[in-house]
This record gives sequence, structure tokens and C-alpha cells, in this order.
Amino acid sequence: AKSHDELDYLIKQSVRASKTVEREIQRLNRIENYRKEFIGDISHELKTPIFAIQGFIETLLNGAIDDEEVNHKFLEKAMRNVNRLIYLTKDLMEISKLETGELKSDIQNINLKDLVMDVVTNLQYKAEKADVVLKTDLPQNYVVSADRNQIRQVLINLIDNSIKYNVKGGKVTVGVKPWSKDNTRVLVYVKDTGIGISQQHIERVTERFFRVDKSRSREDGEGTGLGLAIVKHIIQAHNEELFIESTPNVSSSFSFTLSRADHTSFKDEPNQ
Ligand code: ADP
Repeated sequence: AKSHDELDYLIKQSVRASKTVEREIQRLNRIENYRKEFIGDISHELKTPIFAIQGFIETLLNGAIDDEEVNHKFLEKAMRNVNRLIYLTKDLMEISKLETGELKSDIQNINLKDLVMDVVTNLQYKAEKADVVLKTDLPQNYVVSADRNQIRQVLINLIDNSIKYNVKGGKVTVGVKPWSKDNTRVLVYVKDTGIGISQQHIERVTERFFRVDKSRSREDGEGTGLGLAIVKHIIQAHNEELFIESTPNVSSSFSFTLSRADHTSFKDEPNQ
């Protein structure tokens, strides 16, 4: 016969095992719910442009095709929705790869100033079109350990938003400054003088498909509601931090840390 202590031990062990199983079931349920939610979200997002395209083509087939002016307008509208589906598909593929961990970051030494300047130069045209001044504040160069394409994507998404959610005559500043006390990390920031985000929405803007103003970004055909979710995932994959601060109707600031690859001493060499 087993001693009291042995029985006690066996009972405790089986309780522990059943707790582990329970936790595992909970984890799988969470994944399953997440998957269901994701599919629901995607279907919802696809519905709007698909029905719009269907509507335009139907109207054309019902006779509008004979009116050259209407015909052109409707085809253009259909095309805008096709483009929207393309953006959406691209972003969805990106986020699903990031969320499943399929997309591994290719960490290299990158020259941060060159990368920021490159992205800013490419978005200058867009800023001018929106009557927004886009400038940089890069007093010093840094070499950081990061995935070049992913950090490029982060910068594009953040700067693009700062232009999009700005006001006429507004400003966007992209800058880099030292972050950690030991000088091993830097902070990259994108600050705007735009419409801002209220406190209750700040926590939610990195959720996929979350938009403060549901109609606004859909109308311009470009916003997928995935930009900041992608940013969050990329920064997480780098084991870095993302900060969001905003004052409604005044400004927003999105910033993230990066780790320096060129840090050798506490004293920094001036920019070469
Ligand atoms: P979207 O495609 O809608 O721009 P994002 O994921 O990039 O999707 O952003 C989510 C939402 O966060 C936006 O719809 C907008 O409401 C808000 N937002 C993002 N960036 C800014 C900003 N710089 N200023 C104000 N609101 C912003």
C-alpha cells in the first residue's frame, strides 16, 4: 500500500497536469477565436470594395455604358476599388506573415540617416500635394541593427499617416535622438501638427482595422486600417518599443527605439 505522502504527491501531480491541459486548451481556444475574428474582419473589409465594383459594373451593363461621360466616371470608380483590394491584399499578406512569425527579420547594420532621408525624399511629393511641410531633424548619424525593409515600411506607414491625418499648412518632423542612458539605443520619431488622437483611441490605433473615423480613410481608397498594426508587429519582432502620444487637434507623435550597432564607448563620435 502506498503511504499517505505518496498518495498526496500523486494527487498533487495529477492536479498540476490537469491544470496544464486546461491552460493549453485555453491557449488553443484563444488562437481559434483570434482566427475566427481575423477571418470575420477580412470578409467585412473585402465586402465594401467588392460590392462597390459590382454596383458600378451592373450600372454600366444596364445601359450607362452608352453614355461616355458616365461610363468613364464609373470605370474610374471601379478601378479605385480594385486598387483598394490590391492594397488590402498586400497588407493582409504582410500582417498574417508577421502574426504567425513566418516573416523573420533580417537583421543587418543599417545607416539610419540614409534610410530616413531616402523615405522622406520619396514622400516629399505626397506631403506637398497635401500642403504639409515634411522635414527632418537628424543632427547625428547612427548605425543600427535592424531589418532595412521592415524599418523602411515602419517609416513609410508612420510618415504617410502624419501627412494623411494632418491639416493644411501642417508640419511633419522625422527625427532621431539618443534614447537610453548607456547610449546603446536611439529613438526615431515622427511628429505631426495634425488632427491628433483622443486618449481613449490611442490604445486602439494599433489594432488591425481600427480607424478613428471609419469613413475618412476608406474614401481616399488607400487606408487599409492595417498600417499601424504592421508597425507594431515589426517593432515587436525587433524587440524594440513603440510609443504613441497625442493631443487632439494639436499634434501626434509616434516613436520607436532601435539598437545601435556602432556603439563602442560612452562618448559619441560626431557625425562623419
Ligand atoms: P489607416 O489605413 O486607417 O490609416 P492605420 O493603421 O495606419 O490605418 O491607422 C489607424 C487609425 O489611427 C487611422 O485610421 C487614424 O484614425 C489613426 N491615426 C493614425 N495615425 C495618425 C496620426 N498621425 N494622426 C491622427 N490619427 C492617426
